[in-house]
Amino acid sequence: MRILLAEDDVITRRLLEAQLKKWGHEVVPCSDGQQAWDQLNKDESPKLVILDWMMPVMDGLTVSKKIRELETRPYTYIILLTAKSRKEDIVEGLEAGADDYITKPFDPQELRVRIRAAIRIVQLQEDLLEALKTSEFRATHDSLTGLWNRYAILGILEKQLARSTRDGCEISVIMADVDHFKKVNDNYGHLAGDEVLRQAARRMKNLLRPYDDVGRYGGEEFILVLPGCNAESAVNIAERIRLEFEKTPVVSSEGTFPVSLSFGVATTKGKDCSRTDDIIGLADDALYKAKESGRNRVVFAGELGSRT
Ligand code: GH3
Ligand code: MG
Ligand code: MG
Ligand code: MG
Repeated sequence: MRILLAEDDVITRRLLEAQLKKWGHEVVPCSDGQQAWDQLNKDESPKLVILDWMMPVMDGLTVSKKIRELETRPYTYIILLTAKSRKEDIVEGLEAGADDYITKPFDPQELRVRIRAAIRIVQLQEDLLEALKTSEFRATHDSLTGLWNRYAILGILEKQLARSTRDGCEISVIMADVDHFKKVNDNYGHLAGDEVLRQAARRMKNLLRPYDDVGRYGGEEFILVLPGCNAESAVNIAERIRLEFEKTPVVSSEGTFPVSLSFGVATTKGKDCSRTDDIIGLADDALYKAKESGRNRVVFAGELGSRT
């Protein structure tokens, strides 16, 4: 494990460094608190730090307090190294944010077991954060396509609409639906159908701007949220996606076949249109019209709130 070691006394530092290296750790040595603080502000800084209490420029207690004020994730485990062994001092050290302390002169065996305990906590913390990240991802993403799921994309749209009511910028929504998708499943099988959905997701993502979002709204239906995008640009984006499918058939494990999509586009701006249901309803009506009038086309629904 990478361990930051801040100790101003050269002999103690070298001794500790040698000991830690002997146990297989990588050591980042610092000779005062300021150096330690600078190191901790770099990317990928060590998650286990050993801080001498008394150091020039910035002492270990101050560094501990600053680390805790930052609330960095993942957790930084702090061992305070101190010649002070009175109970009040230890309490003060732990209250400043240290997790543990070792009194000088240090006993190698004691240091070893305390480091081992620290590593357990750091690793537990990292595993926990990883698990949290995974469950956050699963709660907001569609497992088949990797796109936002319905819940997440509606949340994004709601936020963008709230922003639009404040700054009056336009938002467009595109609802996209794969044409005759049931036939894809019937003719090529469910797995090929899944492959179509994954490719549709990839193609849409590639054609969007970095600040646009796309989610899977339902089975073979997608919703695209385009902030700051006016009606004309939104229709153009939908048309580009439509043409991409017209131009390039889907290659699946069950064969290569053409797939088309229909699109409903709606745009909103201003104060009267903060409801997600309204703009989605409009885009959905337009999508319905696109289906009714022959599929493989883009229909624009009109603008909500354009007369405000
Ligand atoms: P339309 O052009 O009117 O949209 O016709 P459609 O066949 O695409 O629409 P319909 O709603 O009749 O059928 C949608 C099909 O999508 C039915 C359902 O089995 C299928 N489907 C929904 N989710 C998935 C999925 O995750 N994977 C696969 N392979 N199929 C799915
Ligand atoms: Mg010192
Ligand atoms: Mg469909
Ligand atoms: Mg559908």
